[in-house]
Amino acid sequence: AKIYHRAAYCYFTREMGVEIRERVRMMHALRTAFEDERLFVVYQPQIDMRNGKPFGAEALLRWRTEDGDLISPDKFIPIAEYSGLIVSIGEWVLRTACYELDKILKSGIKEFRISVNVSQAQFTHPLFLQVIERVLADTKIPPECLELEITESMAMADLEVLTLTLGKIKSKGVRISIDDFGTGFSSLSHLQKLNVDKLKIDRAFINEITSGTNEGSITKMIIQLAQSLHLEVIAEGVENLEQANYLLQFGCYQAQGFLYAKPQNKVDFHAWLHDHQ
Ligand code: C2E
Ligand code: CA
Ligand code: CA
Ligand code: CA
Repeated sequence: AKIYHRAAYCYFTREMGVEIRERVRMMHALRTAFEDERLFVVYQPQIDMRNGKPFGAEALLRWRTEDGDLISPDKFIPIAEYSGLIVSIGEWVLRTACYELDKILKSGIKEFRISVNVSQAQFTHPLFLQVIERVLADTKIPPECLELEITESMAMADLEVLTLTLGKIKSKGVRISIDDFGTGFSSLSHLQKLNVDKLKIDRAFINEITSGTNEGSITKMIIQLAQSLHLEVIAEGVENLEQANYLLQFGCYQAQGFLYAKPQNKVDFHAWLHDHQ
């Protein structure tokens, strides 16, 4: 029994060591990739399902390794957050997306919006407001064309700090959307106090929406909640017409998903946009 115990102990620590080493390796690789400009932003159109026209896009980060492989943001964003790198990477994404929006608006497309994901570490950073001001001043985009996506779990953190920061951002004219809505546990009174503009229904619900399970009722409830609070609502991960029709039937008109378009690099995205006017 003693030998077994020791063996188990050794196995456990070695596994832990491997995991930490892997994380540190990824962290260095990510920093180098950022410095070597191997990170890039792709854009996924957002559609008004009533007329099929795009009205905006979400900026999504990509990492291409030196070998040419793509690493999923679900893998590297947590490392960027853990290491603090997300503050400078996030600022770069914001700036890149706003420059892209400026190009779109200058190319004759009117009233287009760009949504940018913002991590908690960015949002609570003391210089975040200045970053936004500087990016708006440099790119000269209309502030109401910029939308920041914060997650519902972030919206649950320190309410006082959050309300203060949100208020300052909103006073600049920038819009706020709550991402992954339905997966966290924000209370209704909380939501009302936060004064956000939009709810984004998580893909997990849309996935199961027509299967007759709870996801459908949760989606309906979120749509109704948005309507009664006078918020916009968008569905993420719409992949088929059944889902689109379900959403339309219950009054959700905005969608983002593979049914309409996948995230695209900026060149393809510009071409796509001009083809879909
Ligand atoms: P998210 O913010 O919830 O973004 C939506 C994800 O759903 C994207 O994955 C998008 O490609 C995917 N998606 C959209 N429509 C469909 C669909 O119809 N079917 C399926 N299967 N997937 C769909 P992606 O690009 O891999 O990003 C994953 C997550 O990484 C994002 O989830 C977001 O949390 C994070 N992320 C991406 N870029 C950034 C960034 O610049 N900053 C921060 N902080 N997080 C980011
Ligand atoms: Ca998002
Ligand atoms: Ca989501
Ligand atoms: Ca997310």
